[in-house]
Amino acid sequence: MFDKEYDVIVVGGGHAGAEAAAAAANLGSKTLLVTMSLQNIAQMSCNPAMGGIAKGQIVREIDALGGYSGIITDKTAIQFKMLNKSKGPAMWSPRAQSDRMRFAEEWRLALENTPNVDFYQEMVSGLLIKGNKVVGVKTTMGLEIKSKSVVLTNGTFLNGLIHIGDKQMGGGRSGEKASTGITEQLVSLGFISGRMKTGTPPRVDGRTLDYSVMIPQPGDPNPETFSYLDTKPLTHQRACHMSHTSALVHDLLREGFDRSPMFNGRIKSIGPRYCPSIEDKINRFADKDSHQIFVEPEGWNTVEVYVNGFSTSLPEDVQFKALRSVKGFEKVKFFRPGYAIEYDYFPPTQLKHTLETKLVDNLYFAGQINGTTGYEEAASQGLMAGINAHLKINEKDPFILQRDEAYIGVLVDDLITKGTEEPYRMFTSRAEYRTLLRQDNADLRLTPMSYNIGLATKERMERMEQKEKESNSFIQFFKDTSYSPEDVNPILEDLNSSLVKQPDKMFKVFSRPKVTMEHMRQLEPVSKYIEEHQLDREVLEQTEIQVKYAGYIAKEKNNADKLQRLENIKIPENFNYDNIKSLSYEAREKLKSIKPISISQASRISGVSPSDISVLLVYMGR
Ligand SMILES: Cc1cc2nc3c(=O)[nH]c(=O)nc-3n(C[C@H](O)[C@H](O)[C@H](O)COP(=O)(O)OP(=O)(O)OC[C@H]3O[C@@H](n4cnc5c(N)ncnc54)[C@H](O)[C@@H]3O)c2cc1C
Repeated sequence: MFDKEYDVIVVGGGHAGAEAAAAAANLGSKTLLVTMSLQNIAQMSCNPAMGGIAKGQIVREIDALGGYSGIITDKTAIQFKMLNKSKGPAMWSPRAQSDRMRFAEEWRLALENTPNVDFYQEMVSGLLIKGNKVVGVKTTMGLEIKSKSVVLTNGTFLNGLIHIGDKQMGGGRSGEKASTGITEQLVSLGFISGRMKTGTPPRVDGRTLDYSVMIPQPGDPNPETFSYLDTKPLTHQRACHMSHTSALVHDLLREGFDRSPMFNGRIKSIGPRYCPSIEDKINRFADKDSHQIFVEPEGWNTVEVYVNGFSTSLPEDVQFKALRSVKGFEKVKFFRPGYAIEYDYFPPTQLKHTLETKLVDNLYFAGQINGTTGYEEAASQGLMAGINAHLKINEKDPFILQRDEAYIGVLVDDLITKGTEEPYRMFTSRAEYRTLLRQDNADLRLTPMSYNIGLATKERMERMEQKEKESNSFIQFFKDTSYSPEDVNPILEDLNSSLVKQPDKMFKVFSRPKVTMEHMRQLEPVSKYIEEHQLDREVLEQTEIQVKYAGYIAKEKNNADKLQRLENIKIPENFNYDNIKSLSYEAREKLKSIKPISISQASRISGVSPSDISVLLVYMGR
């Protein structure tokens, strides 16, 4: 039934698995995607949206590297917003609502159209191991499929246990079976596993809602796209709506607290701190008598609606009664109640930067199995694992992104260096170089690297080069061209900015706060340049950011370069920390377990102090 031996087997067709399979196959690896349901490829288990703060930057990075998540979001979007537009460009974060059913369908079609991907629908129950190397997988039907490497992306399915009130049922997601066997085998091999939980709100019938009493939440008037390729922005969009809970709704929910698995001790594991359930919000913020609820359509045509902000595992009758007391929901009918799910994960300090496990060669973990939460976090890890699985079996250098190169670099480094005890989601505050890691320049940062390893296509590379060339020339134009005070002063006067007396270079006036590209375009030489060179929105935006934030960007680059010096001091793989007596006991234990590859990584391990780092530096002759 199968090829004699695959290069890469990807277990699980969620966001991580889909990107892993696409990346490995596009690099030329013969790839098999084994998943429990081929109807649910890249299923959006929770809200039908991609991107958001810091997550949108990750999707842009995935796209810049040649992954599919951005393209598929663009193809299936029903609404687009650039969040945080009132803040600096480091904070701008694209977010799109997607059509949930079309999202999964487009992913499946994209993979079907990717050469080198074979599919098989079944549950993998274990790994084939020879010595300390993985050599394939076995399925619940007893089939053995051979491969040179395996990427595990089991998501929330490993021994998944669903909770609704006092009811419990095994499952990896509503209506889908839990995965058994893999955790037990990995633990027997010496891996440490843990337990986490997450939850989701009810889905309801939009025909039963009264939108006239809710506040419309439209998309951006000029929607953009996620992909740097030429996917098309939306010409029309579906609006979301906002409503609020009330003191009455909270009282009704409280009536079910004694049957809540969150409060009666049945759920023991830790959930995502920044995605609390409604019962958790009421409990923690007892003084607040109202919380926002976002009513999000699940697609273009379906009547199904996602009730964002009302995640809950309270008994279904309590959920129903309380939701019917929310404004606009008085006649609501449920498609399905909300629920919580507990699942196994593997603390990610058991991984290398490539996401290969330290214990078993050629075995990679990506996505929720590593203790993360979110589609974007999962997809990016899948992409990195797929790339590195391919590179390793072809004896090529690993592909590792640094913290100053990508949010994906920050994500992987945080996971493998610090680990996580609660579901890890990305925030802009986790990135120390966020002025460099903007959503507008992910292509400039990452496409050349991906092109060099053979993943990003020539078309993608050429588009990036064109953008870079055009924006650099336009920046030079602002540096070379002078303004005349008569032309510039009316603009400055409107902006309440001090007037100029002498002609000077345009770059200088453009750098002033409040002066934007829109203002600069009012000057004839600028508008003429844009017209003559037919510059598009992306080039204008790139030029504007690079001119206006030149100082900040240079300063951050300088800091990153300094850190790079520590990054360049490599620690040999089998370095014997027991030989250094002056290291603290805690530092020695942590260093032995995490095995950092550089002094810089060692400095980020909690429990390794600056004096431990000095000791290491002295020991290494620095
Ligand atoms: C109830 C619920 C609520 C959530 N709430 C949030 C939230 O509030 N915020 C947020 O950011 N994220 C939330 N998520 C998480 C989000 O869905 C995940 O982060 C994301 O989907 C993880 O992607 P993944 O690829 O790692 O795994 P998943 O998307 O879970 O995909 C796993 C895939 O692996 C397959 N699989 C599993 N085991 C096997 C096996 N043994 N053999 C073959 N195939 C297998 C499954 O069929 C599935 O296709 C929630 C998820 C659930 C289920």
